[in-house]
Amino acid sequence: MKKYALQIVLLLSFYSSFSQQIITRDPEIAALVSQVSRDSLQAYVNKLVSFGTRHTMSVTNDKKKGIGASRQWVLSKFQQFASQSEGRITAMIDTWTLKADGKRVDKDQEIGNVMATLKGTDPSDNRIFIVSGHIDSRVTDVMNRTADAPGANDDGSGTAAVIELARILAKSKFSATIIFVAVSGEEQGLLGAEHLAEKAVTEKWNIEAVLNNDIMGSNNSNETNIIDNTRLRVFSEGLPAFEIDKKAANIRQYGLENDGKARQLARYVKEVGERYVENLEVVMVYRNDRFLRGGDHTPFVTKGFAAVRFSEMNENFLHQHQDLRTEKGVEYGDFSKFMDFEYLRKNTCINLANLANLAKSPGMPREVLIEVSGLSNSTTLTWQAPEAGKPKGYYVLMRETYQPFWQKKFFTTELKLALPYSKDNYFFAVQAVSESGNESLPVIPLPKR
Ligand SMILES: [Zn+2]
Repeated sequence: MKKYALQIVLLLSFYSSFSQQIITRDPEIAALVSQVSRDSLQAYVNKLVSFGTRHTMSVTNDKKKGIGASRQWVLSKFQQFASQSEGRITAMIDTWTLKADGKRVDKDQEIGNVMATLKGTDPSDNRIFIVSGHIDSRVTDVMNRTADAPGANDDGSGTAAVIELARILAKSKFSATIIFVAVSGEEQGLLGAEHLAEKAVTEKWNIEAVLNNDIMGSNNSNETNIIDNTRLRVFSEGLPAFEIDKKAANIRQYGLENDGKARQLARYVKEVGERYVENLEVVMVYRNDRFLRGGDHTPFVTKGFAAVRFSEMNENFLHQHQDLRTEKGVEYGDFSKFMDFEYLRKNTCINLANLANLAKSPGMPREVLIEVSGLSNSTTLTWQAPEAGKPKGYYVLMRETYQPFWQKKFFTTELKLALPYSKDNYFFAVQAVSESGNESLPVIPLPKR
């Protein structure tokens, strides 16, 4: 029992979170979060709308209209921020040719993801964090490439967030790399995200998290008059799509059906996001996406990366994928006048707090193990230091098996911790923590054999 050189820094009880939660903010991140501007976001959305349509199959050679002009504009913003980044940001459009597929691509078409890469400052840190929105838009007929498709909320909101994040973070120095990307081809079948995820696999990118933002700037439901700008949904898969056949036995044996990579990331973004953003609750939804619907995080999820989707609490289907028209006094169409830019600001802040915290954190601890050599009502965890960064110490997280969120957090500077709680009754995980309190994603222990 020698090492109670630990301190309970946070006791997050599900039932009494307000009375017991100690919030410690990294002042650098708090200052960055305060720079997210409602006006900037609104200006970006309005500019995106001004291109008429951003349909993936629309014109690429017009200077003012269509997908080509819109992605050139996003590139110009990224280049502007790059010029303020002391060389840390490189901006590009990753273009390729889509081959007609007889489905939602009916002719060969040039397509492009607009990317800004904020290079990490530590050459030994190869971790990558990705934040995405999709630039393309659509109306009722998914093949209609000429009608105005403002796509203010779907997904001008996510694209504007990505631009605003690049603007603010351009001047920051982080250990790890952040990629800001406006992907294309979402409405034609997640084509841009698929391309990027394939590239990441081929080039062996060390992606630790993908935050996908899609439809997150409107506060109301069309059916029920609900107005809610205080909750943001984060979707995360439960059982992993990637190699479930290989993982199923361990998941079953250790009871980890609620502790996959994406679910861990969702828990993390909730805790870190709510630490920095007032009057916003991140609501974890225990499924990969909305019922039978998809998004750009999915190609990453199916390739084994931790990826989640942010979306507003209530969608308004009068303003999504609609031809612009008025019927019986009801206006249809995805216009920015239907959005809530204060809500979009808060949702952008959630992304910023998480990206900055992740990119400042040490890498995840390695070889996190739980001792199982003898039967015991206590729990001993061991681990190794991460490859990247110099941790100040480690948090051991703990929760009851039926609880959605981590409930206790123990700090130690050692590579081992014994706790008087039974591994039969609790889940545990370990995070590395930087000097300024930025924690890595948690790692679930495996049995020490
Ligand atoms: Zn969308």
